Amino acid sequence: MSHIVLFGPPGAGKGTQSAMLKTEAGLGHISTGDALRAEVAAGTPLGKEVGAVMASGALVSDDLVIGVLKSRLESLNGVKGVVFDGFPRTVAQAQALDQMLASRNESVAAMVSLVVDKEELIERLLKRAEAEGRADDTRESIAKRFDEYQAKTLPVADYYRGQNKLVEVNGSGSVEEVFQRIRQATGV
Ligand code: AMP
Repeated sequence: MSHIVLFGPPGAGKGTQSAMLKTEAGLGHISTGDALRAEVAAGTPLGKEVGAVMASGALVSDDLVIGVLKSRLESLNGVKGVVFDGFPRTVAQAQALDQMLASRNESVAAMVSLVVDKEELIERLLKRAEAEGRADDTRESIAKRFDEYQAKTLPVADYYRGQNKLVEVNGSGSVEEVFQRIRQATGV
């Protein structure tokens, strides 16, 4: 099993590159953001609980997100590995993922950190706001998402650095260029 954590600030291209890894490298894809947005759209009790938090740009609680991740992981079959997209976003989530995988005799192979200038990130997010109209792509929510990233998510990179699993990849350039860099860095 070749599990990859795709890491980076909002707008780094995690969703786009995850889709490439799914179609081109045959990996399963779990995006906690997509999973939570589906709950919101379906109006489930969980969706009702997290909708406002997500729209504000704040992180959803560890307990709820870990529950979502666990059920997605358990329902994925027949893949040679999983790309975790937007998870873990806190050290507690990273520890929970390690435990979940260890109970299956599996582990994270690498954490790919996509590195992109902040100016380019904001430009990309505002463009996406026009194209997709995501509830959290407003200027205010974008600022909040960067604050959350800085305070709670950046330490996750140190967590994987401590396990010698952190790989930094230049996330600027075409989708294909970035994808080839990821393949080269991880061997998937
Ligand atoms: P994303 O699509 O990954 O940018 O996630 C969109 C929003 O969903 C985030 O701003 C959070 O509110 C929530 N979310 C997604 N993944 C997580 C996570 N691992 N931990 C906490 N909140 C999350």
